[in-house]
Amino acid sequence: MESEEIIRCSIRGKLKKEFNLKKDKLFDTDFASVGDVVNYDFNKDGTGVINSIEERRNYISRKAPRIKGASYRGERLEQVIAANIDKVFIVTSVNEPNFNNKTLDRFLVSAESSSLEAVIVINKIDLADDDSSQQWQKLYNNIGYTLLLTSVVSDINIDEIKSMLSGNKSLFWGQSGVGKSSILNKMFPDLKLKIGEVSQYTSKGIHTTVTSRMIPLDKNTFIVDTPGIREIDPYGIKKEDLPHYFIEFEDFADQCKFNTCSHHHEPGCKVIDALEKELISKERYDSYLRILETIEDDLNF
Ligand code: GDP
Ligand code: ZN
Repeated sequence: MESEEIIRCSIRGKLKKEFNLKKDKLFDTDFASVGDVVNYDFNKDGTGVINSIEERRNYISRKAPRIKGASYRGERLEQVIAANIDKVFIVTSVNEPNFNNKTLDRFLVSAESSSLEAVIVINKIDLADDDSSQQWQKLYNNIGYTLLLTSVVSDINIDEIKSMLSGNKSLFWGQSGVGKSSILNKMFPDLKLKIGEVSQYTSKGIHTTVTSRMIPLDKNTFIVDTPGIREIDPYGIKKEDLPHYFIEFEDFADQCKFNTCSHHHEPGCKVIDALEKELISKERYDSYLRILETIEDDLNF
């Protein structure tokens, strides 16, 4: 491992002020996030002060949970998960929690909206009692995604994940309990991440200070471990952009009769056409409509 020094930093007041002027809102996880490159000065006591944050190549975010302290005038603000990432492993599981393709699609929409390469993992394949995981694999492969069926318990395809990390900054993302920490520990036993410890919220619903971490594996290879979350809502996605994030819709969406087509009910909709011809799967189309509805709700802000 390369030298890794941890310097506890605060953020210079001036930078905070500039940030608030720019964003017109205050939410502290936005200042600096895991993966940011920062310029800082040392204080006498060895702590640091961040002077500036370099422009992000990309970042991935979600809507902050609707809980005390994370909202501003009732609006759900943006929570940056990580910045300057190369690859996102979206981890799901067969069971505990059950595989839910709509949840997976929300994560995929987030990854696509950040133009990040997404790799899908369905873990706990040892718990499968039918071939539905293989069918999901086929569905997502047909769209063009890599989908790995894995098991930590039976050591299936964990090496495959490991071989995809080299030279990249990879984010491990997914609902709590799917096995992210277990997979990371299996690949890198020295990490000794805690397993099964999944509390982003205390029982009172208060946000605890669980944050993402970037772990260096070698000079060019990093992984970002994210705290357990229950759900994500992609942030800042416009209704008209959503079809772009369902990548298999794109070719059809361009040819709809109306260029404002929401692919919901409009005549001359080529996406609905493709759905009827089974060129687009019903599962993905239903996901699309579900997310579209939530975006419409949010327009009431
Ligand atoms: P995380 O919240 O995504 O980091 O999930 P954890 O790694 O903490 O795992 C949650 C639970 O799932 C733990 O009880 C693990 O032992 C279990 N688990 C993880 N991977 C597998 C697997 O491949 N098969 C089975 N059967 N259980 C697993
Ligand atoms: Zn259409």
